[in-house]
Amino acid sequence: MPEIAFVNDAFMPLSDAVVPIDDRGFVFSDGVYEVIAVYEGIPFRMREHLERIQRSAAGIRLPLPPEFERIEAWIEEGIRQSGFPDCKVYVQITRGVAPRGHAFPVDVQPTLVATFREKEVLASEIREQGVSLITIEDIRWARCDIKSVALLPNVLAKQQALDAGAFESVFYSDDKTVHECSVSNIFYVKRGAVITPAKSNKLLPGITRGVVLELTRELGIETSEKRVCFDDLFRADEIFLTGTTIEVLSVVKVDDAKIGDSKVGPVTRRIYERFCQEINTEPVAKV
Ligand code: PMP
Repeated sequence: MPEIAFVNDAFMPLSDAVVPIDDRGFVFSDGVYEVIAVYEGIPFRMREHLERIQRSAAGIRLPLPPEFERIEAWIEEGIRQSGFPDCKVYVQITRGVAPRGHAFPVDVQPTLVATFREKEVLASEIREQGVSLITIEDIRWARCDIKSVALLPNVLAKQQALDAGAFESVFYSDDKTVHECSVSNIFYVKRGAVITPAKSNKLLPGITRGVVLELTRELGIETSEKRVCFDDLFRADEIFLTGTTIEVLSVVKVDDAKIGDSKVGPVTRRIYERFCQEINTEPVAKV
């Protein structure tokens, strides 16, 4: 099956897709992006992703290119052309191509690119066993609610986790408030209730986070969005992460501390199974 790219207004094989080196996305990370999961040919919560990229673009004063008006149609066309039933659509908009200079360029069209690749499936052992986290000081900027392509602190945090033999890093600030992870949102469970950090400028309002909040309320699980501090994590009965690619993923260890009984907990399992119904996918058996 072909991996496809869309650049400004045309589809092409991914291997042929290029942008000029003066693109401000390359030079300044001056752009925003989205990742949309596609299950059985259907983009999951596409409208919400598209609303978020519009908010992100507005957040950095980036005008949308004309092709954005037809984005739903061309995303569907890209999915059809790529032929992957389950694929991952990446959309990026940058402030366009201009000689290097910090000020916004005048009369420049934004660059719009998208890629359509097969969706990688998380190994079932990872789902069955749960993952570990390391805690890390949050050195990011004060607009983490914008899905900007400037992700260097997130890149470093993810690598630091992998180097420590963990799966993810969870960011906390000076006052020990926990925000989110390098590529996911975080939830914990205490006495049957589900808690996640309230929306703020220090975390991305994840689309999966929003879906999970809908589902926990629908399941009748007590749910709250509030300030979460460092110690809450270590006292949690269960912890799980949410994100477009990982969906709902259990955490069984934070730094050196075991969470609950180091197994996927019952509340996480229930939410994961309900999430699988939402995306019309069979849950991994032993989770
Ligand atoms: N936080 C960060 C920093 C992320 O990069 C992601 C993944 N894009 C998320 C949270 C989860 O967001 P979503 O559920 O929309 O994928």
